[in-house]
Amino acid sequence: MTETFGNFLYSKSIFLSFPIMFIVLLSVTPNSLGQETLKNNNSCKCVVFRMDDIQDYWLQAGQLTPMDLFMSKNQSLSLGLIMNDIGNDSKVTGKIQDGVQQGLFELALHGWDHIDYTELSEEEQEDSLHKANEKMQKLFGTTSDIFFPPLFNFDDATLKAMNDLRLRILSSSASTEYDFNQNRSVFSLDEKNDGSNMNQTIYHLPATSFFKNYNETAVIAKNPIEKILADVTQNIAKYGYSVILFHPQDFMKLDENGNFTNVVEEKEVQDLSRLIDSVLSNNISITSFSKIVGIENGTNLSSFNAGTATGMFTNNNNINSNAYPVSDSCLPFRTPRSEDYITLGASDHIDLKELKGLNCSLAQIYNMYGKYLYEKASTLGISPSDAAATIFVESSGLGFGPDGRMIIRFESCVFYEQWGKKESLEFSNHFECGRQNDKFRTSPTHEFTEYHGNHSKEWRVFEFARNLDEEAAIKSISMGLGQIMGFNADKAGYTSAEEMFNNMSHSLKSQIDGFFSALSYNKDNKDKSCMDNLKTNNYVGFAACYNAYGQDEAYASRIKESANAYKEVTAGRLYAGS
Ligand SMILES: [Zn+2]
Repeated sequence: MTETFGNFLYSKSIFLSFPIMFIVLLSVTPNSLGQETLKNNNSCKCVVFRMDDIQDYWLQAGQLTPMDLFMSKNQSLSLGLIMNDIGNDSKVTGKIQDGVQQGLFELALHGWDHIDYTELSEEEQEDSLHKANEKMQKLFGTTSDIFFPPLFNFDDATLKAMNDLRLRILSSSASTEYDFNQNRSVFSLDEKNDGSNMNQTIYHLPATSFFKNYNETAVIAKNPIEKILADVTQNIAKYGYSVILFHPQDFMKLDENGNFTNVVEEKEVQDLSRLIDSVLSNNISITSFSKIVGIENGTNLSSFNAGTATGMFTNNNNINSNAYPVSDSCLPFRTPRSEDYITLGASDHIDLKELKGLNCSLAQIYNMYGKYLYEKASTLGISPSDAAATIFVESSGLGFGPDGRMIIRFESCVFYEQWGKKESLEFSNHFECGRQNDKFRTSPTHEFTEYHGNHSKEWRVFEFARNLDEEAAIKSISMGLGQIMGFNADKAGYTSAEEMFNNMSHSLKSQIDGFFSALSYNKDNKDKSCMDNLKTNNYVGFAACYNAYGQDEAYASRIKESANAYKEVTAGRLYAGS
């Protein structure tokens, strides 16, 4: 898992790197502001909208319409997926993917099957949730740390199973929590702040308001928006947050027998829309479960979504997974840009033979560009160990592919923004904007195929795009070690994307410089840059500067651990880390 570092090459595909940091660097994230509020007021004055029963080919419009609504309002929505029943209905999965990529949808397990989990043994519950997360990973490239028990029921075995699987958030219902232990486990932001809740491994954040109520005889009772708002306010006063639950069926017309039809009841959608607007106009923000408790949802960091609604940053750093072999032994990284490494690397190479894990990876950094990092660090006013650790944890670590060309990632969606909008027919003849699943074809008579994750394919698509519009194409790629987007050239110290491309294409030094320039970039010349935190050895502050997911401590400790490893392997050497 993420704790074992095979070697340097392997590590880059594990660590979520530059993109996430970059988002936060260059745009003020609502989340990091949200975190601030939490710390100050013991309340986030926020609400989570949760939609359950997401599955294939079932009341499709009832699932898609609310998803569209939240996306059109640019608001967060948490989805409970029935994992055994999802994966074939591409309209549903495609929509979910879109929302995830835009950073709006939070995914939760709503069971493997939609059954009462308390009727399963602890082992069965654990197997079932494990299976659910495996499929989640396969379908959406990320696991979930959140469980919405079907029918709300859970027991001690559920909590044990969740604990074994490191699922952190349980969202049942307020009445189920009451039945469980008179709400004693319900998470409150007060507890979080006075520290008494620190040992709680699973956070209980039950649904407290319902768009519609369903009782056993399936009679549906609609809750007036005013009542929901009053409940929300009351729950915020009590717990610091509130959770509103709705279902796809809430929006469907019924036939004369009281069965759901496939037709959307527009009035209900309008009511949901009005509810969202009312919440916001009462200065209550809409957030996700993981943001309330301050954890990152999902454990697969490498695939963790980093795309933004505006399509600004590259969203995946698994760039070389096909280009480089993964090996367990500490083998020297063979680079085609040897001249670069002769000037950048330390002359007193560390012998890699006996090294393992972190030490192996950081020794590679010393050998490849340790001398330059030593000089760079002194210019930046940070320690060489911190410089090395930052590159290791936050960048891909590699600048060039085996063929000597710079590592790039061509973002079809950005190319659409830059060029395709004006040339939509030509664009759609060759490109499909799908973020992780961007596709390309040379001619309209060919089939579209995916190209991410393959160095030579990325270049083929990029070269094709360059023939259509050189400038737009260069703006649409992320480049080199730090994977900085072309249109962000100014943040990396360049006056144009072309200039950045020309420099970085031939020089690892330029890539390293660009990476640190971006880290030093100060959005409005008011706040500190991320780099300022490193200067004072404030690792947590540094991590918080880019990390929008409440993982500051974890990232900080990775950087610290890597810095220590660098110190250890370089001790007594020419350009030793301090
Ligand atoms: Zn359900």
